[in-house]
Amino acid sequence: MSVADELLKANETFARNFKLGELSVRPKRHVAVLACMDSRILFEHCLGLHPGDAHMIRNAGGIATDDALRSLIVSHHLLDTQEFIIINHTDCGLLKVKEYELRAKLAEKMGVVASEPAHFHAFDDLEANVRQQIERVKSHPWIPKHIPVRGFVYDVKTGKLTEVEPK
Ligand SMILES: [Zn+2]
Repeated sequence: MSVADELLKANETFARNFKLGELSVRPKRHVAVLACMDSRILFEHCLGLHPGDAHMIRNAGGIATDDALRSLIVSHHLLDTQEFIIINHTDCGLLKVKEYELRAKLAEKMGVVASEPAHFHAFDDLEANVRQQIERVKSHPWIPKHIPVRGFVYDVKTGKLTEVEPK
């Protein structure tokens, strides 16, 4: 049985007891969270969020990529979120690699170079990286200036969030 089959089986149980069919498409707490995809962190749990509460946008690193910005813009303009939160975390996979080394390694492993993705967004300073993502979001012309954009570091050893203050 592949993992996908196991997941399908779990879904059968889930669907049998399903009670969330009436939730609104608009997040009840009017908040969108952009965070890393790290498997150790279930952000809904660590932020006290329930289905229907918030938009969760996740990618490797918790980076305000073009696609993450697309989601945040949709989140605010179409679905009425009024606050954004960005979370990076300690021991992130992207903290341990260098952009050019990763690219070279992949080209060697696969025997071919690739132009996409243009960036892996590897980084070596966690707090600086969070600040950079806040800046990317805040400076987008389609994200209104009144939307608060706050950034945090999640510690995978303690489960605690620490706010990254703007410089
Ligand atoms: Zn990560």
